[in-house]
Amino acid sequence: MLFLAVTLVMGGRGYLSFVQTVNSQREKVELDLSQLEATFHAIHQRSSNELFRLADQLRVPAENELDDGEAFAPSLISGIESIYYLSNTGTILNSSKQAGSNEYLSEKQISDAVDILRREQRPHANLSCLLQCFQSVFIPVIADDGRELIININRSATLLIQDFYEITGADIALFSVGKESDVLAVDKVFVASNAEIISSVLVGILKSRKYSSHGNHIFFDSILNGLYSARFFPLSSDGDIISYAAVLQDQSHIRALIIQALKDIVFSTVITLVLVVLLIALILKPSLNRVMRLAEVLPLLPKGRFSDAKKLNKANAKKKFSDEIDVLQYTVNEVVDSLEDMSASVSQHRDELRLKIEALTEAKLFNELILDSSPLVVVIHDRDGVIYNINKLGRELAGLSSSSPVAANINNWVKNEHSSKSLSSALANIFDSTSKKMQGEMAFFTDSGHKLYFLWTHSCLQINGESRILSMGVDITERKETAQSLYWLGQHDRITGLLNRGSFTESASEAIAKYHDSHHIELVMFDIDDFAIFNDRFGFDAGDCLLNSLAAYLMQVLPDHCLLARTGSGEFCAIIQHAKSTGQSVKDLSLESLARYIFIHNDIHEEICISIVVDCYDESLSGIDELISNSTSTMAKVKSKIKGSLYYAAESGDSSKQQRQMKYRMREQLQSALADNRLVVFYQPILDLASNSISHCECLVRMLDSEGEFISPAHFLGIAAESGLMPQLDFSVMEKAMRQQRIWEDSGIHVGLSINITAFTLEQADFEARLVDMISRTGANPARLIFEVVETDALENLSVARKLLNNFKNVGAKVALDDFGIGFTSFEYVRELPVDYIKIDQSFIRFIHERESDQILVRSMVEMSHNLGKKVIVEGVEHREAFDIVREIGVECVQGYYVCRPVPISALDLSLSIKGA
Ligand code: C2E
Ligand code: MG
Ligand code: MG
Repeated sequence: MLFLAVTLVMGGRGYLSFVQTVNSQREKVELDLSQLEATFHAIHQRSSNELFRLADQLRVPAENELDDGEAFAPSLISGIESIYYLSNTGTILNSSKQAGSNEYLSEKQISDAVDILRREQRPHANLSCLLQCFQSVFIPVIADDGRELIININRSATLLIQDFYEITGADIALFSVGKESDVLAVDKVFVASNAEIISSVLVGILKSRKYSSHGNHIFFDSILNGLYSARFFPLSSDGDIISYAAVLQDQSHIRALIIQALKDIVFSTVITLVLVVLLIALILKPSLNRVMRLAEVLPLLPKGRFSDAKKLNKANAKKKFSDEIDVLQYTVNEVVDSLEDMSASVSQHRDELRLKIEALTEAKLFNELILDSSPLVVVIHDRDGVIYNINKLGRELAGLSSSSPVAANINNWVKNEHSSKSLSSALANIFDSTSKKMQGEMAFFTDSGHKLYFLWTHSCLQINGESRILSMGVDITERKETAQSLYWLGQHDRITGLLNRGSFTESASEAIAKYHDSHHIELVMFDIDDFAIFNDRFGFDAGDCLLNSLAAYLMQVLPDHCLLARTGSGEFCAIIQHAKSTGQSVKDLSLESLARYIFIHNDIHEEICISIVVDCYDESLSGIDELISNSTSTMAKVKSKIKGSLYYAAESGDSSKQQRQMKYRMREQLQSALADNRLVVFYQPILDLASNSISHCECLVRMLDSEGEFISPAHFLGIAAESGLMPQLDFSVMEKAMRQQRIWEDSGIHVGLSINITAFTLEQADFEARLVDMISRTGANPARLIFEVVETDALENLSVARKLLNNFKNVGAKVALDDFGIGFTSFEYVRELPVDYIKIDQSFIRFIHERESDQILVRSMVEMSHNLGKKVIVEGVEHREAFDIVREIGVECVQGYYVCRPVPISALDLSLSIKGA
């Protein structure tokens, strides 16, 4: 700024002096030109005075002399062009003229002169250029006779010009122009001091047409390459013609002066500039050096070289007097400090970020690894089913490449096989806040065209503000197929393929309900005599073959519409109905021949005796169970007398009535046993395989009859159930068991007890209260109690079953599902029940060492139980081989005659273990 200001001042000063020079030269030129004009007028006046004097010397002729012009012609002295004598009105009276003169006195000149003379009464001088430039004087004279005359003398202006040039040294030109022109245009240059130069200059000035008719002009003539000053001034006018004079001076020296002035300006400005720059450089050098150092600091900052920057900056403690650079240095230092701090924190954050990214990457890889090695199909999709992410198993099944499954839709593979409703429309409700999770089965149709059963769990997720569905599916095809075959097995006998006892009673009940009014319904019971002996003799395979071929034979000989089932080990039952209107009965079928059956298998050729009991249904019976129960009793009686015979119970007096009387007696016996406390609890040890020790004992009731015999529960539990005595029986056993447990607890014996409870008891309204009361009264440790509920009882109604079983969980006891596998429904159903143990029914175990199919079934049941988090107890282990097999399969507990038979408390040995287990 300072630099600029000084330069401007110096430049301005130079310019001012230049302007002054120009102005002073202009003033001088103008003054010179005015003086030249004045000088010209003075010379003209002096010259006119000469002419006035000449006129005085002239004689004024008499009137007559004038009339004779020739006689009186005045003599013309040298330089005079003409002399006129005029009347006072301007009439030319006489004249004399140089020979060859082109002098011309115009009327206008004369009349103007007359007017002026009349007005001013003194001589009048005039200079005009018409045909030539002439100097004219008009002098009034009075003739001797008193007449007023006017003498006019004219002389060429050349002399005047010469005088002027000689006196002033300046050039002058006389010329005339037309009057109408508002600017000068040379009409004619008549006289010039230096004709060649002046006419060129004049023409140049006038051609430029910028010049006014009267005034000063400075003009540069490019032809003559000189600077001229000129002044125009009018002399006279005659009509339209005006005579002018122009004085001119060569002013080339002024040009030199101006150029010199310009040079001075430039020179002084340049010098000033140099001086200023030097001065500035001198003054600012130290500061500039400091600024330079600062400038070197800045590039170090992006490189993170903060300590170098601080060394270079060297900002000391704040001075008392500090300039702007000091302030800048402090500021830079502060900036360096804060940048250093920032850099440190950035690098710390960067490290933290790196660690987090590593952790996240690791977690991502881990998740991907888990997802990809997961046995589940995991899919993230939107409400339309468009897949955003899918794990390896899902890709493989859907036939998707490993690249992103853009535009793949889950509905293409996951479909409801029984309805046209797509998965996405089934999941529409999941976006409601109420149902964030949905579960269900839906088939997965793989890329290779297989149908797999999947159990899906769908949940709603929010990803980046978008609602997505996470679907996780587990392949339950194998389980489902096993379950289906188990279900079939649950309904059928595994050996013969006939209905089993459970489904037979169910179907028979339906038939009775439907046809008992219109039809004569009869039960035919077949029982192979000495079937156990047959098995012993020929082995179980042969026994199975016998059952199979007998079943086929019965199906062949019995009527098509009959209901046939295998209801016991060598026992078959058939329900045969005939319309009452036909009057037909089983008797008409001539079943006698069936009592002997020839069995041929490999090298076995054996006549098999079959005992047959036929009984008919009547209204007095409670249902099919009672009819079968009656037939069983009859069968036992028949067999004890004669085997291989056909026996019509109704005809032989072994009627239902008698059966009922038997039952009545049994009920009375049971009632008195309950009253007299003659129900005895036997204990059957359950071996824990992990510890090879007795962990529990199952409580099994026996009735002590009047003869001191222990009656098996098979004989009185049915009657107890029918006659409503079951709850009383169960509560009685529960209390006995709990008291026993308390005794063991007090003695430090940590063996639990497993108590059988029927659905009748469980459904008692006050059951929970009585359970709680009994635990507190007996002081039993509920944690060591297992309550066994028969699978079919428990599963009838899921929500009720769950609620009832929770009664045991609420008091801290455990629950076992008894006789599992017989009335099998679904493992998915079992999943929902609060069950700790699954007790696989003994019918699957007793011959497991001989039947591979039993092994396969038990293995899959155990696997599924474990998948659901349930422990497994097997009952009915009678042999070492069976024991080894179930241990290898991985069951937790074993119960059976091989470990120990049910025994009274006095005979119980809790310390027993199995050798080699
Ligand atoms: P459960 O609860 O399945 O009891 C197991 C049955 O299998 C018992 O028959 C037991 O003696 C028998 N058992 C144990 N190991 C073997 C073996 O290795 N081979 C064979 N062939 N059988 C074996 P039990 O004592 O006759 O009881 C039959 C059923 O009566 C029981 O089946 C249970 O459902 C019911 N029961 C027994 N006591 C009670 C009770 O106090 N209350 C209730 N509600 N039911 C009871
Ligand atoms: Mg049991
Ligand atoms: Mg059982």
